[in-house]
Amino acid sequence: MAYTGRFAPSPTGALHLGSLAAALASFLQARHHSGRWLLRIDDIDPQREQPGSASGIIQTLHEFGLQPDAPVIYQSQRKHLYQQAMEQLLSSGHAYPCGCSRAVLDEQGRYPGICRHGLPEGASARSIRVRCDGAEIDFDDAIAGPQQLQLDELSGDFVIRRADHCFAYQLCCAVDDAAPGITEVVRGSDLLACSGKQIHLRRLLQLSSPRYAHIPLITDRQGRKLSKSAADDPLQQGEPADAMRLALQHLRHAPPAQVTSVDGMLAWALQHWQPGRLSSAWS
Ligand SMILES: [Zn+2]
Repeated sequence: MAYTGRFAPSPTGALHLGSLAAALASFLQARHHSGRWLLRIDDIDPQREQPGSASGIIQTLHEFGLQPDAPVIYQSQRKHLYQQAMEQLLSSGHAYPCGCSRAVLDEQGRYPGICRHGLPEGASARSIRVRCDGAEIDFDDAIAGPQQLQLDELSGDFVIRRADHCFAYQLCCAVDDAAPGITEVVRGSDLLACSGKQIHLRRLLQLSSPRYAHIPLITDRQGRKLSKSAADDPLQQGEPADAMRLALQHLRHAPPAQVTSVDGMLAWALQHWQPGRLSSAWS
């Protein structure tokens, strides 16, 4: 199957440096494999969405030369697919209604399984959860290497539709990363646990999973996690060439000093991209 990658930002604000690096990594990896690159806007959560953010992100990516090879996909237009997936999980017994609030979660945010065998008397359904049943998710990450995730330790049975009837990120992403023939998902290491949950959902839905490649946590030159504050972010300060150089540095592909334009740096990175450099950053 031909390589297809994607970048899937949530429209909760302007694109920041960390997201630019993730977008670049997925784009460069797709081009390295002579593949297609898709852009999906994960706008499933109207409460977190910021008006104008989706078009702002698309415009910023365009200015960096990151143009998708197909029309932009919007999760808000795909709710029927998430509904179908949820119904399938309910009818196969892999999902169940839960009447609990967040107050029942333990200190690590894990659900103790109270409604697993039916709603307690007097309780009414709030959310829908998927069973984890001790699932252990093993996968070989293209950058981070072999992974082994115990879902009961991470979260326990997790929500696929929230009390406000919004489909949860895990379900939407699980469905969408299987749907348009996506073969590899390149994204930040902060989403590693999410990948485990999404692989679990796709197994239950009998969908195949893409390969995963998690890029190391994006840090500054001192090894600190990159601040999301706009004041420290050259991207949000209107300094695109600085942002491009920093993002590529984080991806272990610093362009030579004489390459100074955004276009020039992208062209240089396309020519020199070696994903293996990111693997060594993991250890
Ligand atoms: Zn419950």
